Amino acid sequence: MQEKITIVGGGLSGSLLAIYMAKRGFEVSLFERRPDMRKNKIYAGKSINLALSTRGLNALSKIGLDTEILNDAIPMAGRMMHSVKGDLTYQPYGKEGQAINSVSRGRLNTKLVELADEYPNITIYFNAKCVDVDLTKNLCVFEMEDGSKKEVWSDRIIGTDGAFAATRGKMQMGDRFNYSQNYLHVGYKELVIPAGPNAEFLMEKGALHIWPRGSYMMIALPNPAGDFTCTLFMPFEGEYGFANLDTKEKVVEFFNTNFPDAVALMPTLTEDFFTNPTSSLVTVKCYPWVKEDKLALMGDAAHAIVPFYGQGMNCSFEDVVVFDECVEKYFPNWTKVFDEYQKLRKPNADAIADLAVQNYYEMADKVGDKEFLHKKHIEHDLSDLYPEKYKSQYELTTFSLSSYSYALNQGKKNEALIDRIIADKAEDKIKDAAYMDTLWHLLA
Ligand SMILES: Cc1cc2nc3c(=O)[nH]c(=O)nc-3n(C[C@H](O)[C@H](O)[C@H](O)COP(=O)(O)OP(=O)(O)OC[C@H]3O[C@@H](n4cnc5c(N)ncnc54)[C@H](O)[C@@H]3O)c2cc1C
Repeated sequence: MQEKITIVGGGLSGSLLAIYMAKRGFEVSLFERRPDMRKNKIYAGKSINLALSTRGLNALSKIGLDTEILNDAIPMAGRMMHSVKGDLTYQPYGKEGQAINSVSRGRLNTKLVELADEYPNITIYFNAKCVDVDLTKNLCVFEMEDGSKKEVWSDRIIGTDGAFAATRGKMQMGDRFNYSQNYLHVGYKELVIPAGPNAEFLMEKGALHIWPRGSYMMIALPNPAGDFTCTLFMPFEGEYGFANLDTKEKVVEFFNTNFPDAVALMPTLTEDFFTNPTSSLVTVKCYPWVKEDKLALMGDAAHAIVPFYGQGMNCSFEDVVVFDECVEKYFPNWTKVFDEYQKLRKPNADAIADLAVQNYYEMADKVGDKEFLHKKHIEHDLSDLYPEKYKSQYELTTFSLSSYSYALNQGKKNEALIDRIIADKAEDKIKDAAYMDTLWHLLA
């Protein structure tokens, strides 16, 4: 008899996981709280587009979906910084040919669900909200659209129900479960720069735009229809806080003063500002991620992170790949599958969570700073001159499959190396292999 797997949450990681598990021959039931996204456009002013990079693409390539998703994506090869005066500074993310990709969350989720639906061994239930998990009986309880309760028995339960997961809530009630939840003092609101009259992009299309302003910032990612989704990140309270922007006049004045080049392109600014929600950003860390061989948490349910490295989904997709590799190695020993999965992923999820918070300060504050740009310049030269020896933290995180922990540690070593070059006033000696040979030990 095929083993039954219940997946709670049909978002990005849940729908991907369903396909991976169906490919292994399991009987998969996927339960999603929201209505069928193929029939309903669901957009509540929350991250309409996402940056998809190497880890996410690797996960999609294993189910043959990478090319199709990339066909509709917009590559962003670098950051475009906008000063208050409207001056533009461009900084490539990596080497020639390397780019992160702006993709539509809705379309990606829909594609995954469509593919999942093609598998005879996957059953998808929408409008099915998990309200209880009883691990003594291997049962999940769902509240269905008509208000009825559905009890579902399965061999394994996997919680991919996002940052506020009901499945994790069940584990929190158990013994020896570590849990922390930290809200960033900064929230976010989505706004829009529409396409021009001929559906053209009104700013550079191939870049992620940033208006860094210290304690707050705005970013914009391009969409295939020619528009940009802008996200304003700022504290909830304080002089430069959402709470202070409580009238149309204040919003217009704030944007005119701080983002004058953008505001000229935002005809629906005040309407969007007061219609779209202000949402919070949370980092969730917990452990263990599994309960015996019965329940495992994956994606944001196990590790919600703030979005500043553009890695939450990429990391969640990598969870699925690693989990699948553990199934390949250790099935039918599920205790081993679950345990190896959490041991492999937890340090990496912690690392990317810390990198993501660190990147907020980099994006909001440092990217416009001369010293920072000088360091980035040196880093760029090192990457170009010594591609085998020097890999930036960004490259390791975004354009490689090296572990996030390695990227975090290597980033610290890179920083020490660059500081040393600056302290030696040796920027012009970077090309001198003999000089560099005296420094490489700093990266060991
Ligand atoms: C503003 C913002 C920008 C972001 N930008 C990026 C980016 O550029 N790149 C990137 O890689 N990541 C980004 N992320 C992170 C990314 O959105 C998440 O990491 C990713 O969505 C995690 O996928 P998931 O499937 O684990 O969770 P989710 O996508 O949240 O999916 C969880 C699913 O579970 C369902 N669900 C919840 N509760 C229940 C229940 N009780 N019963 C049944 N179903 C339930 C939900 O309806 C949802 O469909 C961003 C996040 C935010 C907030």
